[in-house]
Amino acid sequence: MDSVGVAAAAPDAGPGPAWQSKCPWGAPSTTSISCSLADVMSEQLAKELQLEEENAAFPEVVAAAEGPYITGENVDTSSDLMLAQMLQMEFDREYDAQLRREEKKINGDSKVSISFENYRKVHPYDSDSSEDEVDWQDTRHDPYRADKPTTTPRRGFIGKGKDITTKHDEVVCGRKNTARMENFAPEFQVGDGIGMDLKLSNQVFNALKQHAYSEERRSARLHEKKEHSTAEKAVDPKTRLLLYKMVNSGMLETITGCISTGKESVVFHAYGGNSATEDKVIPAECAIKVFKTTLNEFKNRDKYIKDDYRFKDRFSKLNPRKIIRMWAEKEMHNLTRMQNAGIPCPQVVILKKHILVMSFIGQDQVPAPKLKDVTLSSEDMKKAYYQILNMMQQLYRECNLVHADLSEYNMLWHDGKVWLIDVSQSVEPTHPHGLEFLFRDCRNVSQFFQKGGVADALNERELFNAVSGLNITADNEVDFQAEIEALEKMNEDHVQNHGKKLSTFSSDGDPPIYDE
Ligand code: ADP
Ligand code: MN
Repeated sequence: MDSVGVAAAAPDAGPGPAWQSKCPWGAPSTTSISCSLADVMSEQLAKELQLEEENAAFPEVVAAAEGPYITGENVDTSSDLMLAQMLQMEFDREYDAQLRREEKKINGDSKVSISFENYRKVHPYDSDSSEDEVDWQDTRHDPYRADKPTTTPRRGFIGKGKDITTKHDEVVCGRKNTARMENFAPEFQVGDGIGMDLKLSNQVFNALKQHAYSEERRSARLHEKKEHSTAEKAVDPKTRLLLYKMVNSGMLETITGCISTGKESVVFHAYGGNSATEDKVIPAECAIKVFKTTLNEFKNRDKYIKDDYRFKDRFSKLNPRKIIRMWAEKEMHNLTRMQNAGIPCPQVVILKKHILVMSFIGQDQVPAPKLKDVTLSSEDMKKAYYQILNMMQQLYRECNLVHADLSEYNMLWHDGKVWLIDVSQSVEPTHPHGLEFLFRDCRNVSQFFQKGGVADALNERELFNAVSGLNITADNEVDFQAEIEALEKMNEDHVQNHGKKLSTFSSDGDPPIYDE
């Protein structure tokens, strides 16, 4: 098991005195680091140096601030430093938010207003970085922006008679090019050129522009690489901070380790703590599903969410990071629906951005085995089959959902019954591919139980009809699938014409629910 190094241990259970006397971010390194000019200019480094200085000046203050909550990975000071900085930033932001509220309260509707701008802790550029994306191109409100040189008006020339100046004028054009340099990415060093009366020829400007763009692309690639590598190891600093907060708030007692690392998510085990509100009880053991924030894994899953009308309006407006949060949100909604229908599944505890905390299926840190990994007696096998049949029907009819990734990999055997998990990709049956997903689920289930020796197991086509209540009569796979697609198309056409989904695909009356 991988430790994530975020744990709330009792003070006496903390590590030995060796590090208690030290500051929590590790001993300040005294070795001088050689670095480039760019590094010297970097804000990050400035912050680090400042923190180092503070550590040296006020060691006892920092030592006192050390909580009992951070254990392990003490050697990993660089990442703890980052954590500290992020916490500080978080604090500053909260402080600023309070300032803003006070400013608003004082000013009210008054025509004359007082600004608290100068008391803010966070630089205006950082203040909305909680959304972690920065629009590099947006320089509209740049306070440092130099006044634009006067350029020719839209008609293309200025002046009268002999004094006429056209837009092709060398001086005007040169100034305009200089002004346009501010559209380059901010990392691109253009010096004081913008502020000076500098005239760039078209040729020079174009060469610069090319270079700026390729630099921008290169740094974006580097950034992606860095993010990827951290996520690969365990979790990225942002996720770590969120997990840390959950432990710090007491909601979770300890995060013990990693249960699974999949392509799209990492699942951790944790012991539940106390809820802030009385009415909500945190389960004794929790599973934390962290949806990976490395974007490339998710691209192929677009189709599940893109066509889900519940998310349709939002999808087009979102950036990839938000889409990942939507996966977590989707899993939460789907689990809640299932819970309400009484289907055995994890119970949602909390959703924080791309992190979903739910009840743990298993005991004493040992997760319940997947159906593919247990050997069941033929009796249990039969019981499991009927239970799944029943659950698929409930899912379809009561929850109005198709699992869409149902197989022996996403069913756990616990407490003598089957539990359904992994429903982030589940869709409503009227999803443009909903019935195809259902058919695939049916095929997985049929094949598993037929191979497992359940004589009663329906074949995939029978199962599909039994679950959906549709009455597709085709007796071979190809025709069956064609009919499914025709139905989906019919529904889509209906949506196009009437702007509304058919509530469900139901034929003549509901077939009986299988109850064994
Ligand atoms: P993925 O999309 O990566 O397949 P899953 O939701 O299937 O994500 O979770 C991966 C694995 O983590 C599961 O196969 C299961 O072993 C474990 N797991 C997930 N949720 C829970 C839970 N609530 N309780 C116990 N184990 C869980
Ligand atoms: Mn899974």
